[in-house]
Amino acid sequence: MSVPLILTLPPHLQRQLSQRTPLLWLNPSWRPIDRIDPAAAGMQMRDVREAHVRWQRFASLLRTLYPELIASDGIIESPLLAADRLRTSVVGDAPRAGRWLIKTDHALPIAGSIKARGGIYEVLLHAEELAIEHGLTAADGNTSALASEGARALFARHEISVGSTGNLGLSIGIAAAALGFQATVHMSSDAKPWKKARLRDRGVTVVEHSGDFGAAVAAGRAQARGKPDIYFVDDENSSRLFLGYSVAALRLQQQLVGQGIKVDAQHPLFVYLPCGVGGAPGGITFGLRNLFGDHVHCFFAEPVASPCMLLRLALAEDRPVSIREIELDGRTEADGLAVGEASGFVAPLMRPLLSGVFTVTDDDLFAGLFRLDQTERLRIEPSAAAAFPGPLWLLQSPQGDRYLAAHDLENHMPAATHILWTTGGAFVPDEEYRAFHERGRLLTLRDPTDTSLGQA
Ligand SMILES: *Cc1c(COP(=O)(O)O)cnc(C)c1O
Repeated sequence: MSVPLILTLPPHLQRQLSQRTPLLWLNPSWRPIDRIDPAAAGMQMRDVREAHVRWQRFASLLRTLYPELIASDGIIESPLLAADRLRTSVVGDAPRAGRWLIKTDHALPIAGSIKARGGIYEVLLHAEELAIEHGLTAADGNTSALASEGARALFARHEISVGSTGNLGLSIGIAAAALGFQATVHMSSDAKPWKKARLRDRGVTVVEHSGDFGAAVAAGRAQARGKPDIYFVDDENSSRLFLGYSVAALRLQQQLVGQGIKVDAQHPLFVYLPCGVGGAPGGITFGLRNLFGDHVHCFFAEPVASPCMLLRLALAEDRPVSIREIELDGRTEADGLAVGEASGFVAPLMRPLLSGVFTVTDDDLFAGLFRLDQTERLRIEPSAAAAFPGPLWLLQSPQGDRYLAAHDLENHMPAATHILWTTGGAFVPDEEYRAFHERGRLLTLRDPTDTSLGQA
């Protein structure tokens, strides 16, 4: 074997990761919430609540900018739907399988993905900041002023740029263009052509890079350096993105209350979140652990080809680490998750909060996408199916048994709620979707009795 071992990574884990074996990794650094020092995290629940209030303040502006938000009073939110048919199709009707729900961020308005929560939020904050600086509005003023002629003229002299595998670019590009900014999106080689085309249609400049996500971000960062008129949204380091995403936790809490679903020691909540660089699932996990403490169990889903958050959290020490160190190339159809290095800002925050990470093959994604369409009639993109094997890992694997035993959960599983977070897909063109669907259908035909979504 020529691959050098990483000394602070268990050798059997490194082997499994390098071989792309799907697995559930349980986080040994998980801590009860009352043993986590909020000051050490540098981020507090107060910040999440502030972000929630800010989103509320932007509602009138969003209603003005986007007619599709009039019905929701300017709030960008997604339904929390029952997924009984999906559950039955995957695990049957055993009481132990609990209740399954889908948090449908694939259908978030404006951006068609979870990136609406982070990207649009950061663009709005920057726009307001500029407007205040130029005397067009006051701090805590009426945000509708950001849609005025004066504000548009100001924004037209400024640029917003971002590096992206696709969806963050869509979110930032669409929001920036709507306010009148110049917008540039640096796309990685795995970005889908239709995402680039959609942006160009809206007047956004798309710069294509031959490298991966990290290279696209680095190129954008370098281009913006030293240019005060360019604001670069840094997906690897942005606390604004993180907080924009985190507000989903408060919204989910309201939705659970609205549906009469309890979360407490007798009613555990399991949440499965697709992870790329970590900002979106990280912000949500941060909010959820602060709201529900030890009664919520958050798991990330990553492609077997790019398990960057798992890798970083599994190291004994915290340091930047690329999946290339374990001979992985990041090639996956899950373009939203094709990331070689986890965010160095989010990973340390997740260390005590996250329950674990499981990995998925591309076949898992297409099988999941097909099954969701068959059972619940929802249309998602492949990345958004990454969460689906989550409940199976918990309910039907030795590692799952170990987790449930360690947290004394086994007796409470019939009263548990499992939330699968679907993260993108609303804007996938029909032709692309048909190809995804067909690939999933063929996989399912190959072995119709295989309910494991590809899991061994
Ligand atoms: C970006 C993205 C994610 C993950 O978000 P990160 O902040 O990159 O971890 C998940 N699913 C889809 C569809 C995405 O576009």
